[in-house]
Amino acid sequence: MTASTPTPATPDRDRTGTAAAPASAALFARAGAVIPGGVNSPVRAFRAVGGTPRFTASARGPYLRDADGDELVDLLCSWGPMILGHAHPDVLAAVHAAAEQGFSYGTPTEREVELAEEIVARVEPVEQVRLVNSGTEATMSAVRLARGFTGRPVVVKFAGHYHGHVDALLASAGSGLATFALPDTPGVTGAAAADTLVLPYNDVEALADVFARHGERIACVITEAAAGNMGVVPPRPGFTAELRRLTREHGALLVSDEVMTGFRVSRAGWYGHEGLGREHAPDLLTFGKVMGGGFPAAAFGGRADVMAHLAPAGPVYQAGTLSGNPVATAAGLATLRGCTDEVYAAVERAARTVREAASAALSAEGVPHLVNTAGSMFSVFFTGLDEVRDYDDARQQDLGAFRAFFHAMLERGVHLPPSAFEAWFLSAAHDEEALGRVLDALPHAARAAARGAGSL
Ligand code: PLP
Repeated sequence: MTASTPTPATPDRDRTGTAAAPASAALFARAGAVIPGGVNSPVRAFRAVGGTPRFTASARGPYLRDADGDELVDLLCSWGPMILGHAHPDVLAAVHAAAEQGFSYGTPTEREVELAEEIVARVEPVEQVRLVNSGTEATMSAVRLARGFTGRPVVVKFAGHYHGHVDALLASAGSGLATFALPDTPGVTGAAAADTLVLPYNDVEALADVFARHGERIACVITEAAAGNMGVVPPRPGFTAELRRLTREHGALLVSDEVMTGFRVSRAGWYGHEGLGREHAPDLLTFGKVMGGGFPAAAFGGRADVMAHLAPAGPVYQAGTLSGNPVATAAGLATLRGCTDEVYAAVERAARTVREAASAALSAEGVPHLVNTAGSMFSVFFTGLDEVRDYDDARQQDLGAFRAFFHAMLERGVHLPPSAFEAWFLSAAHDEEALGRVLDALPHAARAAARGAGSL
């Protein structure tokens, strides 16, 4: 249902047309009293789509079970990590076994070495790696290291790329092609954003221009390996290579943020999927999500000579009480070891099934849309554009159509990401049964999208 044709509020429907979820609604109201906005990460609050977020009580395989007892096919997968599905038996066993041995020591452990070795073995340009607790910490630390290593202040990022809530990276473009950033949120000072330059993505000319003008001051360019936080927008052919050429020519580091793509789109993440080889390898890479298996574990790594600048080997400080936590590393290690070629093939198959069916259903109802892919990651843009290659393109979406589509899927038991600017995530646990439910829901949702077009 749409904002323009609201379903009458009846006992079993709320105003967005979402089937009522009274237990979730009660929890959301309770949460609102003690947690700002009722959630611990903003997008969970459904602000972009309206309605009440579902509170999850448990999850298994491809399903979430919400507080009302409804089973939902999960196309969120915790925003990426759950590539094996929820509560995978091998990961569960590893977590149980680790927890039996204590929760946190504050001393080094063998498992940290094993996880580091697993990452180094999978991603060729990673010679050394430091474990942290979140993707935000990984990018924050990588940028600090890049500045410490080069002795330069400026960081270049791309509009629409998200690298966590790091002050210097929570900055958006001012007007013009290549602009020094403006703070994106109260609480980030002009000074914190002053050394950040924001460029349009996939624009080789803007990149060349910024290096011509500021090259000697640029410590690094940080880029999502393939963007997934404005919807999915992969680098255009030649873009990554040009990024590599220009950074190298000007003595700046290339930091590839693989928090979302890492270990998801291939064994070696986007680096492995794009396959440009060692000559085009980034200097530093950041990881999170899949490598934590659903627990707080993330990492940054890369060239050994750069990583050697990190304390205690070198002068750039970085630390963490819970970094390399024994239970989180057990979950991460079991997950990565479970990410076999068969698993990647299964995720790709499931992703192809869903994106092709979504596109067919929307086409059948005449809803303008575009599906962008980056390996098995994809998103559906509700747009009439032929190509979405940067943030300006991504923003041209019919949010009313998406909102109606989202709620119609939820009513039929499929939980999409609650925003038009997010990737849809599949797992190897999405079997025929789960995919069948998605396919059954899509024609209804496409009809809702057609009715909701232009309503916001
Ligand atoms: N980098 C990218 C590409 C991300 O997608 C995210 C989170 O979605 C982050 C960094 C931040 O990771 P975290 O939420 O674990 O801090």
